[in-house]
Amino acid sequence: MPEAIGKSVRVEAVLKELKTPVRNIPVIRRHPFDEPSGNKSPATPTAELFACNVYTLDVMDKTLPKPIFAKLTKKMSGAEALDKETADAVAHAVKVWAMERGATHFTHWFQPQTNRTAEKHDSFLTLRYDVSFNNLKVHAFDSFSGSQLMQAEPDASSFPHGGMRTIFEARGYTVWDTTSPMFLQDGPHDTRILYIPSVFISYTGEALDEKTVLLRSCQAVNKAAVELCNLLGHSKINRILVTLGTEQEFFLVDRAKYALRPDIRLTGRSLFGLPPTKHQQLEDHYFGRIPSRVLSAMSEAEFELWKLGVPIKTRHNEVAPGQFEMAPIFEEASVAVDHNHLTMDVLSRVAHRHGLKALFHEKPFKGINGSGKHCNWSMSTDTGINLLEPGSAPEKNTLFMAVLTSILIGLDRHGGLLSASIASASNEHRLGAHEAPPAIISAFLGDQLDDVLNSFVEERSPSRRASATYKKVNLGSTKLDLKVAHLPEIQRDLTDRNRTSPFAFTGNKFEFRAVGSSQSPSFPTAMLNSICAAGMNELLAALKQKPSLDEQSVHEVLKEFIKQTRRVRFEGNNYSEEWVKEAEQRGLLNSKHAPQSFAELVTPANKKALVDELGVLSESELKSRYHVLNEKYTQLLLIEAKTLRNLCVQNISPALLKYTKDTIASLDIIATRSNGQIDNLESRAVPKLINDSNELAKAIDELEKAISQVEDIEDALEAASTAAATLKVSLPKVRKIVDSIEEQIADDAYPFPKYRELLF
Ligand code: ADP
Ligand code: MG
Repeated sequence: MPEAIGKSVRVEAVLKELKTPVRNIPVIRRHPFDEPSGNKSPATPTAELFACNVYTLDVMDKTLPKPIFAKLTKKMSGAEALDKETADAVAHAVKVWAMERGATHFTHWFQPQTNRTAEKHDSFLTLRYDVSFNNLKVHAFDSFSGSQLMQAEPDASSFPHGGMRTIFEARGYTVWDTTSPMFLQDGPHDTRILYIPSVFISYTGEALDEKTVLLRSCQAVNKAAVELCNLLGHSKINRILVTLGTEQEFFLVDRAKYALRPDIRLTGRSLFGLPPTKHQQLEDHYFGRIPSRVLSAMSEAEFELWKLGVPIKTRHNEVAPGQFEMAPIFEEASVAVDHNHLTMDVLSRVAHRHGLKALFHEKPFKGINGSGKHCNWSMSTDTGINLLEPGSAPEKNTLFMAVLTSILIGLDRHGGLLSASIASASNEHRLGAHEAPPAIISAFLGDQLDDVLNSFVEERSPSRRASATYKKVNLGSTKLDLKVAHLPEIQRDLTDRNRTSPFAFTGNKFEFRAVGSSQSPSFPTAMLNSICAAGMNELLAALKQKPSLDEQSVHEVLKEFIKQTRRVRFEGNNYSEEWVKEAEQRGLLNSKHAPQSFAELVTPANKKALVDELGVLSESELKSRYHVLNEKYTQLLLIEAKTLRNLCVQNISPALLKYTKDTIASLDIIATRSNGQIDNLESRAVPKLINDSNELAKAIDELEKAISQVEDIEDALEAASTAAATLKVSLPKVRKIVDSIEEQIADDAYPFPKYRELLF
């Protein structure tokens, strides 16, 4: 009954929240018991706790026989395949380590194309049957073999594969990714589960997952970057690691109220809801004091994550009410991706314990800022150089200039790949909505670096201000005088921030800001790596044309490329209308909807780079991924449409009808006592409500028509673009009417928790 839903359950949820205590966990302390004095010993220092549940290199070194450890580390650097004997020895050692810590199960842990991780638990239990006597004798024991460590075979036909694998040919393998460490997560009843980070491939060796593609792209960068470094005289560099730091934004809402919003539960976002009168206008939430319950949850998540070796560094309130952020210290890309998955996972589970729900959707609430996942990206050499560190005089730092130029070349030729890597039905609500970088991909370098590049082309020295600043930066940045005597001088950064840019240089790394909060950072990073590697290869080819590589000739080559790629640099406001016009003149892609971005994956130039040149994806993998993206887009929109349709028909419309009927009945009674003369709020509302009710029916008709139209289309690409043209239009039309109903009818007649209850 709408009445029951509307009134009591909603009120109960609010009251329940008021009564929810802040959860306190027993913080891990150095000494388990309080001192006799009654003073508690201090919490264990974070560094001591860090990675205590990880089978780290250090632990391996201690638990593995020396020759086995040597072989394993060789395998990790890609130098050697792992033989059976080594695999068995590692498996045995990790089993002992894990069982000492309460592990009963192990699982290959992998990343299918769902933006989530997948796992299937196997216990260590093994049976041996002894038939030497007449009776069958059973011996039970725990075991874990090298082959179980190395490989598993999940029944994989149910994972997204974009038609690459037929249902009949359902084999898929997960294979241990030795570059990412194994770890223990808590299981039920104080047990543990051993997690083995893995890749997921098909019977024929093709990538069905995100990880394989990422690892290949890291290899492609490694190859191109090492060659570039060596060619430019840095002969000691043998290996390049891609580094990644992911800033994770999310919302936390009360779980009892969340439970009463089927739309958020099923689709991750609210399909209707009026923004509250106060949301973020006062800008009082950003960096404000973190609410106690939230802080308690975030801090518990931090403890869990530290133990898993995830180096969480910062936590703070974000711009929107109910929105928060956590960020780690950067790590090697593939490990950072694993760790971002763990962060989302642990946050979800811990939030649950605190009566909260973590929402990772890019736009859970209309009219309020959405969430992103800023991917901070750079490359480090095995000699300890950050390739994106400009140093005191970037114009003289040839290696830095070459790397930067390569990235610009990549962006210019293959910028569409970045656009494709972040496009989704959910991120679409955020991109270009004047809160997040728009769909046009360009790079922001900051005025100083921009000037350095311009000075290259104009064959002049960088402007004095720029070079003077760089000198000081080397000594610890420019100093700003605050004109207050007792305040210390502060250090100014190399670049100011440009929050409107999708891809911004931030001092010694690029920050890819357009990535969505719910996405795996894997594919966006893989595409960054790919465009960088492609740019490096093009630069390398040009450099190799030169008879000699003195500074002068390198500069000539760079100058040409800097000129050629001018169009992808933009220092202004990316949110402005002028930029949209200018970008069009510059010939930059401004994708109107996600399916248009997906198509960038398969343009001839991008296909050539990914498949032929870099080997990041095979042709069929690319095609399959393109299909998966389109299928997912359509499915998500269909789920949203059907959910909204059902809630309107089953809850909102009945609530409206009942309220209108009751109101009219009450008005009739009053009318008999006032000679029919009424002009109160209810009497004015009735015609509007009747009108809304009719409009809702029409809008639902249109939505249903769109649903069947999309469902009738077999072809995945056509279905996605039709969904973009129909469902994307009908959904907001229905929403508009539902929001108008929310605005008109009595609070206790409205069946769902409102934004103000969810967000404050
Ligand atoms: P900002 O304030 O400019 O966003 P921070 O120093 O807060 O920069 O860093 C944001 C993220 O960038 C953190 O996760 C940090 O570890 C990461 N980061 C810093 N340096 C690098 C780098 N060289 N490569 C990749 N990520 C980095
Ligand atoms: Mg940042």
